[in-house]
Amino acid sequence: MARVVAVVNQKGGVGKTTTCVNLSAAISKKGKKVLAVDCDPQGNLTSGFGIDKKSLEKTIYDVLIGSADIKEVIIKDKFENLDILPSNVNLAGSEIELVSVIAREYRLKSAIESVKSEYDYIFIDCPPSLGLLTLNALAASDSVIIPIQCEYYALEGLSQLSSTINLVRKHLNKHLEIDGVVLTMFDSRTNLSLEVVEEVKKYFGEKVFLSIIPRNVRLSEAPSFGLPGIFYDPDSKGARAYIELADEYLNKVKKNT
Ligand code: ADP
Ligand code: MG
Repeated sequence: MARVVAVVNQKGGVGKTTTCVNLSAAISKKGKKVLAVDCDPQGNLTSGFGIDKKSLEKTIYDVLIGSADIKEVIIKDKFENLDILPSNVNLAGSEIELVSVIAREYRLKSAIESVKSEYDYIFIDCPPSLGLLTLNALAASDSVIIPIQCEYYALEGLSQLSSTINLVRKHLNKHLEIDGVVLTMFDSRTNLSLEVVEEVKKYFGEKVFLSIIPRNVRLSEAPSFGLPGIFYDPDSKGARAYIELADEYLNKVKKNT
């Protein structure tokens, strides 16, 4: 059975998608079966894997709304050991459309349930909000990974995220764990980055992954080639950091699949 992990932070631009894409790719490269789920109407994870968003006939939107089975929407033939549940702008309407649907917070969970046995890990890329799509992701997940960008106001919004996680535990998914916090876009030349690392460690303690992701232009170039950074330039500093994070992550969750 897959471990289902939401990559979540309601702030935009903190490295959720980059983390989700590269962690999924790095873990699949180790021979684990991975499903990467794009739960953001922006569809950056989808295009980051080289999938043309506009040409998709069905997406996660159809799965949530009930007009397609998850198995007919998952894209299986792009990468070895790595499948993708794609998204595009159609998903933007779903938060409103789902409001009147029964068990609206559990739509993604029940869809994922039917494919969970086919994977070792399922990573869900969340949108930059704490709305119904993120709630669906959190209700479907065993755990979360929280990317935090090394910049001013890094901790801003985290109390809101913590209280959302607590509310989800209380009402939707009492076993939701925090697998860890990953520091992204670290710049070793600035004191600010170092200060943020210290601050985040004070707040999250042991939950902070030792592997820190540096700011690296190869990671930001990779999506325009439709490849995860770790496939685009495996020797770059950014790719190596994500490969290291994948190792640390797998050790941490000690999964014997
Ligand atoms: P989010 O999904 O949280 O909005 P993204 O992963 O899309 O964040 O990252 C925001 C922007 O920063 C993107 O343009 C991405 O390519 C870039 N980026 C993310 N991580 C890094 C990094 N470690 N080094 C350089 N650029 C990065
Ligand atoms: Mg994103």
